[in-house]
Amino acid sequence: MRVLLVTPPMTQLNTPYPATAYLTGFLRLHAAELGLTVAQADASLALFLRLYSAPLVARLADELGRRARTPARRASAPPSIAHFLGAAERYVDTVEPAVRFLQRRDPSLALRIVGRAFLPEGPRFAHLARPAAGEAGALDEQLATAFGTLGTTEQARYLASLFVDDLADVWREGIDPRFELARYGERLAASAPTFDPLHEALDGEPTLVDETLDELTRELVATHRPDFVGVSAPFPGNVYGAFRMARAIRAAAPRATLVLGGGWVNTELRGLREPRVFDYFDYVTLDDGERPLLNLLARLRGRRSPLVRTYVRKDGEVVLESDATQHDIPNRDTGIPTYDGLPLERYVSVLEMLNPMHRLWSDGRWNKITLAHGCYWKKCTFCDVSLDYIGRYDRASTDLVMRRIRALIAETGETGFHLVDEAAPPAALRALSVRLIADKVSITWWGNIRFEKTFTPDLCRLLAEAGCVAVSGGLEVASDRLLELMKKGVTVEQVARVTRAFTDAGIMVHAYLMYGFPTETTQDTVDALERVRQLFAAGCIQSAYWHRFAATAHSPIGLHPERYGITLRPPASVTFAHNDVAFDDPVGTDHDFLGAGLRKALYNYMHGVGLDADVRAWFEPRGRGPRGKRQRRRRGARASVPATTVPPDLIESYLA
Ligand code: SF4
Repeated sequence: MRVLLVTPPMTQLNTPYPATAYLTGFLRLHAAELGLTVAQADASLALFLRLYSAPLVARLADELGRRARTPARRASAPPSIAHFLGAAERYVDTVEPAVRFLQRRDPSLALRIVGRAFLPEGPRFAHLARPAAGEAGALDEQLATAFGTLGTTEQARYLASLFVDDLADVWREGIDPRFELARYGERLAASAPTFDPLHEALDGEPTLVDETLDELTRELVATHRPDFVGVSAPFPGNVYGAFRMARAIRAAAPRATLVLGGGWVNTELRGLREPRVFDYFDYVTLDDGERPLLNLLARLRGRRSPLVRTYVRKDGEVVLESDATQHDIPNRDTGIPTYDGLPLERYVSVLEMLNPMHRLWSDGRWNKITLAHGCYWKKCTFCDVSLDYIGRYDRASTDLVMRRIRALIAETGETGFHLVDEAAPPAALRALSVRLIADKVSITWWGNIRFEKTFTPDLCRLLAEAGCVAVSGGLEVASDRLLELMKKGVTVEQVARVTRAFTDAGIMVHAYLMYGFPTETTQDTVDALERVRQLFAAGCIQSAYWHRFAATAHSPIGLHPERYGITLRPPASVTFAHNDVAFDDPVGTDHDFLGAGLRKALYNYMHGVGLDADVRAWFEPRGRGPRGKRQRRRRGARASVPATTVPPDLIESYLA
C-alpha cells in the first residue's frame, strides 16, 4: 500500500512543518509488517514555488493586464498591481533568480540586489529611500543604517523578501483575496461554526491560485500513485488547501483512502457534526496521528484493528469511533522523524523583520525536535490544557533525543534545531546540554520555555555552552495580579531575573505578551507596558510580541468563564469548527484602542527607540476631527491613558 502524507498550503516557507516528518518516521517502523511504502510532500512550498515561477508570473501579468485594459481601470488598480503591470517583464525575468537567491543557491546575486537596480521595487519598498542618480551599485545609506551591522547578503535577503511580499500583494489583491504567504483561506476555517462558507469557496469559480494548486495535486498523485493519503492541517490557514487538494485527489485517484488530521482538527473539530466533510475525506482523526493512522492502516490491510479517535460518516451522520482499550503510542516508540522526500534545498528563507528573534522563525532551515509531548505545567487558564497536545505530558529520554538529533544531522547535513515543545522542561534541557557537551555534538538550537526560577545563571550558561542561542517564553500580561489569575506560575520579578540570566549567558530572549485578559483595566495595561519598557531598557528581553487575549473553548476560561468574571456570548449552532468564543467583560476596557499603542511601543523598543519615553506617549489621543486635534494640542498626547503607577526602577530593584 502506497501511503502519501501531505502538508497543504500555506505554512512557513523556510522549513518543513514537522508533522509529516514525524509520521513518516513512525509509519516506516511499521512498513514491513503492514506492507507499506511511505512518502511525504510539502504542497505549501510547491505552491509557492509554482506561483513564483516565470511562467506563472507571466500568466499573472496577462490576466491582470487583460482586466486593466482601459486607462480608467488601470488608474483605479491598487498600487501593488499598478506597479506590477508597469514592470511586469522585469518581474518575470527576476522572480526565479530572486527565489533561487532566497534558497541560498545563488549567493553572488546579493551584490546586484543591493545595487537596487536589479529587482523591481513596488510599494513594499516605499519606506526605503532610492539611491541617488549615479549612485546605483553603492549600498543605500538608509538601508545600511536600518540594518546596522548586517552584511551585504542579509541586506540583499531583506530586499528580495520585500520583492516576494510585493508579489504576494499582487496575487492577493489581483487574483485571490484568500492567498497569503503563510496562510490560505484562513477565515473560512478559523472558528467557523458551519461548513457553508468553505463549501461555497470550494464550489466557486477557481482562481489562478486554485487552478495551480489543483494542477500540483494531480501531479503529486501521478508521481506517487497513492492508495492512502493523510493530509495534516496544522492551522486554519491550511484548511481550504486541504479540502481543495482532497477534492482533486478524489478526482484523480478515486480508490485512494483520504484522511484529515493535524493541529487545527485536534483543536477545532472536537464536536464535528458536518457530514459534508466526508465528501472530501473518508476519515478525520483527532490528536496525535500515530495510533489512529496505525490502526486505520492495519484495518485497511485486512487486520482486525479498532479505530481510535476517528470520525467516520455512517448513514449520513458523523460518528466518532474510538476504542478505549487502545493507548497512544508513547514517545519512546514513535521513532525518528525523517525529512526524506522533501526538497530541503528548495526552502525559502525570507527576512522580513529586522528583529533578530523574528528572523529565527522565518529565516533558515531548522530541524524540529521535541523533548516532551505536552506541557509539564499544564495549568495556564487561557491555554488548551484540556486537550491532548497540552495535557498529556510524555518526556522522551535524553538517549532518544540524542539519537534523533544525530539522525537528523546525518540526513540533512544541518545542525540547526528548533525545539518545538510547548514548554521545554528545564530538567530535560539540562540533561540534553550535558550530553551535547560530553559527546561533543555541536548544534545550534532555540525553543520555547517557561521563565522558571530553575533557570539559574549557571543553568543558562550551561545551555549556552551546549548551543542554545534563543528562548521564548510567556510573560503574558506583565502584571502579578493577572499572572496569578491566569495561573502562569511566574511573577514579574522572577521573569526579570530569569530573562536577565539568559541574556547574560548570551541567549536572546523573546517574550510573549498578552493584553485584553478578563478583568484587565486600562491602568493594568499601561503598567504592563511600563514593566515591559523597563525589561527592554535593562537588557532582559530583546524581542516580544503582544497577542490579544482570546477565550478558547477548551481552556479553563472557556470552560468556566464565571470564575474569571466574564460571560460567554451564546454560541452559534456549531456543526463544524469551534475554538474562539466571544465574551463580555463587564470591566469594559477599550482593548482595541490600547492594542495600537502597545504594538507601536514594542516595535520601537525592539529597535532600541523610545526606551526612556513616558509610556503614555505611544497611545494616540482619543477623539477625531478638528475638535480632537484641538484637544490633542491642548492636552498633549498623554491625555488618553493614565500615568503608570509602576516605580521607574522596579525592574532594576528586582535585578539588584
Ligand atoms: S501556556 Fe504554555 S506553560 Fe502554560 S499550560 Fe500552556 S503550554 Fe504550558
